[in-house]
Amino acid sequence: MQHIDMHCDSIEQIVLFDHDQKDLYHSSLTMVDFERMKKQGQMAQFFAAWLLPQRIFEYHKVPLMTDHVYVQQCHDELVRNVEKHSDIIAMAYTGEDIENNWKAGRMSAVFTVEDGRDIDGKLERLKEYHDMGVRALSLTWNSYNCFGAPNSKDPILMHDGLTEWGKTAVRYMQELGILVDVSHLSEGGFWDVYNLVDKPFVATHSNARAIAPHQRNLSDDQLRALAAKGGCAGINFGPDFLNADPTDPNQTAERMAEMAQYMVNVAGIDTVAIGSDFDGIHGNLEIDSCDKMGLLEEALRKKGFSDDDIEKIFYKNVLRVMKAAVK
Ligand SMILES: [Zn+2]
Repeated sequence: MQHIDMHCDSIEQIVLFDHDQKDLYHSSLTMVDFERMKKQGQMAQFFAAWLLPQRIFEYHKVPLMTDHVYVQQCHDELVRNVEKHSDIIAMAYTGEDIENNWKAGRMSAVFTVEDGRDIDGKLERLKEYHDMGVRALSLTWNSYNCFGAPNSKDPILMHDGLTEWGKTAVRYMQELGILVDVSHLSEGGFWDVYNLVDKPFVATHSNARAIAPHQRNLSDDQLRALAAKGGCAGINFGPDFLNADPTDPNQTAERMAEMAQYMVNVAGIDTVAIGSDFDGIHGNLEIDSCDKMGLLEEALRKKGFSDDDIEKIFYKNVLRVMKAAVK
């Protein structure tokens, strides 16, 4: 079945490491490429520019660049690759674009940014992002920035919320039509977002904390709050986010189906989606590539999910959210 994946880190691999070919059609470096997306029959992929810590540039001996230049490079590489393969894929800026591309026989690429630090407290930069084509922004990664506090094991940080500027910025993002992504945000920040927004928001790649106690996963109350605003959470395929034991390196389709079942029981079938986090996850992965989604479909069926349920999880919930909150 076709699916929409709300998060992967694959462009980073292309921009930083794949110096010879820089090709997202066929890439031995990444868990996602257009060729495997096509083979799978994937509907859309959100490609995130994850703002790297400087040490990663140093570690890989890649010349340092500013966040703003890096975001632009990620965007340009994605668009260049999509245009080169325009027979099978096109950029999408709305839910309607994804549907129209699909009807025309094309998959969609959606450009997103993970970490709002490059916004640097400037509302005009959010407008610039929207003009560039950014359609989802994770407010924080794992450090404080102009939006507010990140997820943390430290309870003080975890309860800290958005800055006053961050609150204004979240309202402005919804006005512009950029999805507000709380996947790396503190719990305090989550509730600030919840109290501010009048349109759906998302956790692009977060699971249920009741099953896997990672601080990036969502409590039952948070899952219900996402549901109350009509948003959704994408199932993260990483072992850290799936397993009760944080040292367990295994990811299986069955465990992902169990996670989906729990999240559906808590927040309803309209609240669960896909957010693989491909190219940002490690371990013994049964589903380690975008063309293995059939395994998840099968595991969901074994758990008793119907065709209608799987359609919602695989793509319909994300399309609904995009139609309500992205323009
Ligand atoms: Zn992430």
